[in-house]
Amino acid sequence: MHIAIIGAGISGLMTALELAEHGCSVDIFDQQQAGQAASWAGGGILSPMYPWRYAPEVNQLAQYGKSLYQSWNEKLYPITGIDFQIHNTGMLIFDQEDFQTGLNYATQHNEPMQQCDLLNRIQLETVNPHISKQFDQAIYFPQLANVRNPRLLQSLIHYLKQHPCVRFFEHCIVEKLIIKNKTVHGIETEDHQQYFADQVVLTSGAWSNYWQQQVQRKIPVHPVQGQMLLFKSPENWLPTMCMNRVMYLIPRQDGHIVCGSSMSECGFSTAVDAQTQQDILSACLEMVPELAQFPIVKRWAGLRPSSPHGIPYIGAMPELNRLWANFGHFRNGLCMGAGSAKLLAQLMLDQKTFVDPHAYSPDRLACAQLAIRENLS
Ligand SMILES: Cc1cc2nc3c(=O)[nH]c(=O)nc-3n(C[C@H](O)[C@H](O)[C@H](O)COP(=O)(O)OP(=O)(O)OC[C@H]3O[C@@H](n4cnc5c(N)ncnc54)[C@H](O)[C@@H]3O)c2cc1C
Repeated sequence: MHIAIIGAGISGLMTALELAEHGCSVDIFDQQQAGQAASWAGGGILSPMYPWRYAPEVNQLAQYGKSLYQSWNEKLYPITGIDFQIHNTGMLIFDQEDFQTGLNYATQHNEPMQQCDLLNRIQLETVNPHISKQFDQAIYFPQLANVRNPRLLQSLIHYLKQHPCVRFFEHCIVEKLIIKNKTVHGIETEDHQQYFADQVVLTSGAWSNYWQQQVQRKIPVHPVQGQMLLFKSPENWLPTMCMNRVMYLIPRQDGHIVCGSSMSECGFSTAVDAQTQQDILSACLEMVPELAQFPIVKRWAGLRPSSPHGIPYIGAMPELNRLWANFGHFRNGLCMGAGSAKLLAQLMLDQKTFVDPHAYSPDRLACAQLAIRENLS
């Protein structure tokens, strides 16, 4: 089976990996360099922040993230030489109003990733000696990890580029689907090159609603900007991830600490601004004041593909044959990425799925009163 995938972020690359490993041949297209959009910009926390605030469908896919990435890292590392570092730091949450909910959620779900303890100040200092004195308590999730997402993308790209069944088309805007008799036959790029395929997959992240006219459905996915900044501390200086009022610190193994994040609707802009950066900095210093001694080495912004309730669209697109979706992961596309791709590949290959696919079905996209534009020339 020959597949064309539009978008080389985590959703597209993981989908390509799953399909290529099952013997499919894959062409993957991106309008920019592969792996440079939201999936690069994200923090890589392998769980929704405050899981109890998210839909069960989001948590269901996210809970497989850590173990699936661990097995992919074991498989890809010997070939790529890139370790994408699943860093088992655990996470401290300081929002008092979430303490009881978090503890209850852990009891109800009884999953390793949700294991949760309430720590007093002495215990807190043992787990992480750098926490501000203003916090007497925290809830602690010892099993939570983060993945070094830029390296995860590098590893996937490196592996897929040497795979005999995979071709990359970078800096290549896909402009149209080739549609005839309500069946998708391939894609056409901006420079009018046509590429035919047995199946086409939309993994276009925050740009996904570009397709709504051609697919005759409303696609309620739009970009929500998130800004970040990066400290460089000594190796392993900060032992845990930290979270307070939806702001977080994510330590990497080499001492980099990713801090974020903001939420803003400003179209496709990825510009950072001084006020938002200052807000992130203040929130982070409130948790760990000693961070102020370390340099900030980078600042950036990325575009999350927002969707209603953050539940991604995964599965066959309605109305059109041979067209598939894997987009709309909003704030949790990295932790859901491995599970989402596995689910989509199982659906495309007509295999038994590891989770119930119905809640993710693109059938829930509302009809748009737009004529399907057929364009097979
Ligand atoms: C600041 C920030 C922090 C985050 N933190 C986390 C976190 O800690 N944990 C977590 O799980 N998630 C996190 N996320 C969310 C996560 O990054 C996203 O949900 C995820 O990366 C979406 O992946 P994607 O592959 O769908 O989209 P993207 O990575 O954006 O990839 C989509 C790709 O499609 C390409 N494309 C679009 N249209 C076309 C076209 N017509 N032709 C060719 N190419 C096209 C784009 O160029 C792009 O490369 C964060 C996001 C941000 C911005």
